[in-house]
Amino acid sequence: MNLKELIERYQRFLITSHTSPDGDALGSCLGLDQWLQEQGKQSAIILSELPQREFPLPGLDRILSLPPWRNNFALFVLDSSEPERIGNDLAGMSSYIVNIDHHPTNSLFGDWQVVDAGASSTAEILTTMISREFTISRSCAQCFYYGILADTGGFRFGNTSARALKAASLLVDCGAQPEMAAKSFFSTLSSFDLKLLGQALLQQVYEEPIAWTILPFWSGISASIDTDFIMNIWRQWSVPYIYILFKEIEPGLYKVSMRSDGSIDLSAIAQQFGGGGHKAASGCTMQGSWIEVRSRLVDAIRRAIQDGKRIS
Ligand code: AMP
Ligand code: MN
Ligand code: MN
Repeated sequence: MNLKELIERYQRFLITSHTSPDGDALGSCLGLDQWLQEQGKQSAIILSELPQREFPLPGLDRILSLPPWRNNFALFVLDSSEPERIGNDLAGMSSYIVNIDHHPTNSLFGDWQVVDAGASSTAEILTTMISREFTISRSCAQCFYYGILADTGGFRFGNTSARALKAASLLVDCGAQPEMAAKSFFSTLSSFDLKLLGQALLQQVYEEPIAWTILPFWSGISASIDTDFIMNIWRQWSVPYIYILFKEIEPGLYKVSMRSDGSIDLSAIAQQFGGGGHKAASGCTMQGSWIEVRSRLVDAIRRAIQDGKRIS
């Protein structure tokens, strides 16, 4: 299958992505939706959760929570390693599923898989895929550019490859405005976000080489609050090489975010606890008392380090 054949075969498309949609998930959904409409197709974006922050991207008002049709459509699942991560049952209703993702833990579900763990972002994959055979409009370029910017942490993370920069450059050629994207990416925090950040930094504990912290339930944290900014600011402290944020989203239930400098495979650790992600950024959900949950995870990381699983 290729993109041309797919859009010749289907007239209606639904696009979806993971719960707690991040910049890559949103930029990818909005850019693809825009492009499909430009091809004269019927398209809709279905997300089970709305973005929490304001993302000043074109087409945000096109995000729906329920599908406008129940059969005879092809479904794009973007930036999601498993169909379960999209939080809806669209996969069961669709005639054809296209799985476009860059998570190495992708379960290769769907009828057509475009999974590239070497890509910085799903938006980069879409940019390369579409630009091979079609032109990319200005507003579509703005969305994809935003996706790449978000998943590379503003072109700072290890996934800022030549390919990622080439895709970004192509998007700027198509009319994307880097300044506008950067402004909306870097200045979106609310005063509540800053309180959470302060709370997380106050509670942090460092035991070489791991730093961890907790946002307890009483802090007001919930599953839908995006805490990527906390990880990004915390990581500016250069001493630890593993950072763990435990978010108590319900009493005794922890959503865990892990980041590393890439010297240990965090996706393998997260998978031991039913989660997944990338080598340098992974996550999982854990249940139990705070002490228990923390020591289970920290012990697993220490074991991985001792077993020589440290990559460098
Ligand atoms: P987060 O810290 O929530 O931003 O997650 C970091 C990375 O791990 C992201 O790429 C997620 O896709 C992935 N991830 C987080 N939680 C899970 C989970 N429960 N299952 C699979 N992957 C996850
Ligand atoms: Mn994502
Ligand atoms: Mn992504």
